[in-house]
Amino acid sequence: MQNFINVILPIPLEKLFTYKVTPEQATFLQPGMRVAVPFGKSKIYTALVHSLHNMAPEVYEAKEIHQILDERPIVNEIQLQHWQWIADYYMCTVGEVFRSALPSAFLLESETLILKNEKAEVDEGALKDDEFLIFEALQHQSILKVHEVAAIVDRKNVLPILNRLIEKNVILLKEEIYEQYKPKLVRYVKLGTNYQSEENLELLLESLTRAPKQSQVILSLFQLQATVKKPIKVSDLEVASGGSRAVIKTLIDKDILEEYHIRRDRVEYDGNIDSADLKSLNEYQEIALVDIQAAFKENKTTLLQGVTSSGKTEVYVKLIEDCIQTGSQALYLLPEIALTTQLIGRLQEYFGEKVSVYHSKYSVQERVEVWNNIVVQKPKAQIVIGARSSLFLPFSNLGLIIVDEEHEGSFKQFDPAPRYHARDAAIVLAKLHKSNILLGSATPSIETFNNARTGKYGYAKITRRYGNVLMPKMEIVDIKEQSRKRRMKGHFSERLLEEITETLEAGEQVILFQNRRGYAPIVECTTCGHSPQCPNCDVSLTYHQYKKQLRCHYCSHLMALQESCQACGSSTLDTKGFGTEQVEQELHELFPKAKVGRMDLDTTRGKYGYERIITAFEQQELDILVGTQMLTKGLDFRNVNLVGIMNADSLLNFPDYRAHERSFQLLTQVAGRAGRTKKRGKVIIQSYNPYHQILKQVSTNDYDEMFKEQLYEREQYKYPPANRIIKITFKHKEYNKLNEAAEWFSKGLRNAFSGNVLGPEFPPVARIRNQYLKHVLIKIDSKQSVSQVKLNIKRIEKSFNAIAFYRSVRVIYNVDHI
Ligand code: ADP
Ligand code: ZN
Ligand code: ZN
Repeated sequence: MQNFINVILPIPLEKLFTYKVTPEQATFLQPGMRVAVPFGKSKIYTALVHSLHNMAPEVYEAKEIHQILDERPIVNEIQLQHWQWIADYYMCTVGEVFRSALPSAFLLESETLILKNEKAEVDEGALKDDEFLIFEALQHQSILKVHEVAAIVDRKNVLPILNRLIEKNVILLKEEIYEQYKPKLVRYVKLGTNYQSEENLELLLESLTRAPKQSQVILSLFQLQATVKKPIKVSDLEVASGGSRAVIKTLIDKDILEEYHIRRDRVEYDGNIDSADLKSLNEYQEIALVDIQAAFKENKTTLLQGVTSSGKTEVYVKLIEDCIQTGSQALYLLPEIALTTQLIGRLQEYFGEKVSVYHSKYSVQERVEVWNNIVVQKPKAQIVIGARSSLFLPFSNLGLIIVDEEHEGSFKQFDPAPRYHARDAAIVLAKLHKSNILLGSATPSIETFNNARTGKYGYAKITRRYGNVLMPKMEIVDIKEQSRKRRMKGHFSERLLEEITETLEAGEQVILFQNRRGYAPIVECTTCGHSPQCPNCDVSLTYHQYKKQLRCHYCSHLMALQESCQACGSSTLDTKGFGTEQVEQELHELFPKAKVGRMDLDTTRGKYGYERIITAFEQQELDILVGTQMLTKGLDFRNVNLVGIMNADSLLNFPDYRAHERSFQLLTQVAGRAGRTKKRGKVIIQSYNPYHQILKQVSTNDYDEMFKEQLYEREQYKYPPANRIIKITFKHKEYNKLNEAAEWFSKGLRNAFSGNVLGPEFPPVARIRNQYLKHVLIKIDSKQSVSQVKLNIKRIEKSFNAIAFYRSVRVIYNVDHI
C-alpha cells in the first residue's frame, strides 16, 4: 500500500495536489503541517498538508515531497474550514487564502529572495556549518534566491536552514525590509531605592529643610503619584513642582531621584507599569454590557452602537476580561490604521503581557512569534489585537471576537485575492468556534444596523459620552455665500478663522480635515485648458508643492512640475481644487506662530510614521493637525476643542451608492475627535451645499434618519442590504480586446441573470498602470441562491477561458464589493 498526501499549494489553482510519502513520513504527518514540495520543472513550494490517504492520483504520477517542515501542525482543522468558506464565498482558491493567511516567512519557495539582516549582530560561533555558509555568501552577494542557496550548501532541501536563520534574525526576506525607527524615549522619575522606606524618607526630608526647592520637588512627586497612580514624567514633575530642570537634575545626581525611560511606542509590554484595575462602568455602559451579555446567551452576533467617546473600549475590556477568565482566547479586530499605540497601551495597562499585537507593519519575526505562541496557546497570546489578517491566526479556543469600527470600508481586502470582508469573515469564524462576537461602532454600516433592526443581530447602545460631556456643537458654514462676498481667506471662512483663533488663544488644539492629499489635484493651463495627465493611467496628476512634483495617486508615477504648459508653452498655469498640503501652507501664512502638522499618506510612511505624528500631537508639540481620513480612526486626544471640515462636498458628490453613508460616518467620526473631555467641543463644516440632508443629519447626530433614507434608496435601486452584489472586473492592456472580452462575458451573464446585470462600464479612472478596466455588477435579490449564482458565473468563465483570444484577459471577482 502506498501513502499519499493532498496538499494546498499557495497558488491560484482550484484543486489540491497529491504527493507521495514514505510510510514513516505518513505516520508522522498530520493535516496542518508544512512540507516542501517540487512543482513544475524546477520550482519548490511550501505546501500545507490537507489530508493523508492511499489513493494514487489517476491522471499524473505523484512526485515525492522534499521534506517535512514542521514538528507539529501550525494550522488547525477550524482554520482549514474557515479558509474553505472564504474561498467559496469570495470566489477564489484555498491556495490564495493560504498564501495570504500565513506570514511570508512560513511560505519560503524557490523564488523567495533572501537578504542579510544588516541590523543584526550575528554571533558567528553560534551558527551551524550550513548556516554559516549562507551567512558568508550573503557578505559577498546582497541577494540570494532559495535555489542559489541550495547550490551553496549543495543540497535540495534548504527551507529548514532558512527557517532557522530567520528565527536567529540573520536573514530577511525581500518584502520584509522595513524601516527601523529610533523610538522617542520619554523620561520618567521615581524616588531612589534608598529612600523607599518611611524611615529613610523622613531623614531625607529633614536633610532637605535648607533646600526648599528640592523638598518642593519631592513633595510634588508624592502628590502626583497619589493622584495619577502611573509613572511620572520628568516634564510633568517640572510643571507640578514649579521647579526647574536643574533642581531635578541635582536630585537625580544625588541618587535621591532615579531616572528611567519608557519607549512611548513600545508594543511589547515591559512589565514596568503596574497593571491597572479595570475602570468601573457608568450606568449607561453597564446597561449596554448587560444587553450584550443577554444577546450572547442567545448566540447572537451583537452590535454595540455607542456615540463617539461613550466609552465603548471600556465595555470591550470588560467582555475580554470575562472571556479570558474562562481560559478562552479573545481577538480584538481593528482597521489597520486605527491600531494605534494609544489603544494598545490602554489594553496593556489592563491585561499586561497577555496582549499580543499582529499587523502587517510588523516584521516577519514578530509575526512568526505571535503565530507560534498561539499554536501552543501561550498565555502571552491569550488576547490578540490586530488588523484583518489576524483572523487567520491559529486560534483553537476562541471565546470572543470584537470588531471595532465595524463600519470601516478598509476591513474589506481589495487586492489581491482573497477579497474578503474581515467583519463578515469574523462572524463566520465565531460560528466555527461557537464564540461570541461583538461589532462596535458609533456609526454602524447600513447592513449591520439593518441586521440589528430586524432582530437577526443582538443590539446594545450608548447614547451619551462618558462623563456626560456634550456632543460637540456643530455649525455649517455656507462657503458659496462667503466666496461670493469675497470673505474667504484661501480656503478658510471667517467663522472657521475666528474659531481657530479663539481655540489657539485658549491653549487648545485644532484638527482640520480635508480628504485629499497633495497641494492640488489638477494643474491647468488657463490659456489652452491642458492639464498634465499620467502616462500610465487615465487621470490628472496631483501637484505636490513641497517637492515641486506632479504625482499619480494610482501608480506613483512622478515628474517635475514644468514652468510652462506642455501643450501651448504659455506660463499661465493654475491649480484647481486643494489638498492637505495647501491647507497646511495657508495655515503657515494665517497663523505664523502656530505649530502645524500634517497627517496623510505622504507623511506617515514607514512602520512608525503614523505614531510619530500622533505622539507629537498628543504631547502638544503641535497646535493644529491637518489630515485626511486617517484622522478619523479611534484617536483619543484630550485637548482638541475644534474640528474643521474644510470641504464636505467632495465626499458627498463621490459617484458611488455608498457616498452618503460614508460621508455621514466620516464626518461624524472626525467631529467626534472634538471635546472629548470636560468642555464641549465645536465642529465647523464648510460646504457649498449647506442644506444637504446628510450635513443636517450629521449636525443633529441623527443616525436613524440617515439610516431610514439610505435604506429606502438602497431598496429602490437594488443595492445592499436589499440585494447582494458581485462585481466582476476585466483587465487588459489592449482597449479593443478588453471591450470585446467584457462584452462576450456580459452577454453570458445577461442570458443567465437577465435584468440584474449592470455594465460592462468603464470606471471613472478607466486605465491604471497601463491596464484598461471594465466593470460589471451583478445584483442578486433575496429570492436567489447566491451559491447558485456563483456556480453560473464560474460556468460562464469556463467557456470564456476556452476562447484562446480572451484567455489573457484577467477576470477579478469581488463579492460584496464596497
Ligand atoms: P469610544 O471608544 O466610545 O470613542 P473611549 O472608550 O475611547 O470611547 O472612551 C472615551 C474616554 O472616556 C476615554 O478616555 C476613556 O478612558 C474614558 N472612559 C470611558 N469609560 C470610562 C469609565 N467607565 N471610567 C473612566 N473613564 C472612562
Ligand atoms: Zn496651454
Ligand atoms: Zn498613474
